[in-house]
Amino acid sequence: MSRYLGSACKLCRREREKLFLKGERCSSKNCTLDRKRGKNGPGQQHGMVKGKMSDYAKHLREKQKARRVYGLTEEQFSHYYEVAEKMKGSTGDNLLKILELRLDNVVARLGLASSKKMARQLVNHGNILVNDKKVDVPRYQVKVGDVITVPEKYKVNTVIKKLVDKTTLSVPTWLSFDKNNIAGTVKSEPLAGEVSHPLNSQLIVEYYSK
Ligand code: SF4
Repeated sequence: MSRYLGSACKLCRREREKLFLKGERCSSKNCTLDRKRGKNGPGQQHGMVKGKMSDYAKHLREKQKARRVYGLTEEQFSHYYEVAEKMKGSTGDNLLKILELRLDNVVARLGLASSKKMARQLVNHGNILVNDKKVDVPRYQVKVGDVITVPEKYKVNTVIKKLVDKTTLSVPTWLSFDKNNIAGTVKSEPLAGEVSHPLNSQLIVEYYSK
């Protein structure tokens, strides 16, 4: 299945919560979900009340939410699940860890991009270095100790400068960010409670276990 190219806000409306897919707009008063007309899911603009969700629907929705937060296709997501299942320890925690350690996600969490979509573009366009080497593969898994930065010529880019000025406080504890050198370091692997978005990994595991 190909990548979703429709409206990002529609995905938030579908999940009935903010997934923060559009950068700065998500935290502004222009967020579609925060506006009156956006409070209902697609097809529910006229206030239709949704019935109680079945167990299956709950599991499916959590899986879809996680997939949308990380901008993955169905195939990519189920591949990550298979990998997580083969690893030692909790499959749910492993899955969240793998998702969180994707290079595009780390770039977004360091504040070098305002959304995961922008982060993916930065990586695809060769504007991200890992340990001083260009890595243009968004799915690249970063490791503890890796240093993520941008090429010298990109450090003077006004968009990056603006983003970097706003970052720091939002950087999660498993990452560190050196604002002067525009360099982020992976200090440790993320714990389940430190991921980009609150997700119930157990529901996802149960979805795939059925
Ligand atoms: Fe979701 Fe609001 Fe961002 Fe649109 S603006 S992607 S509804 S959080």
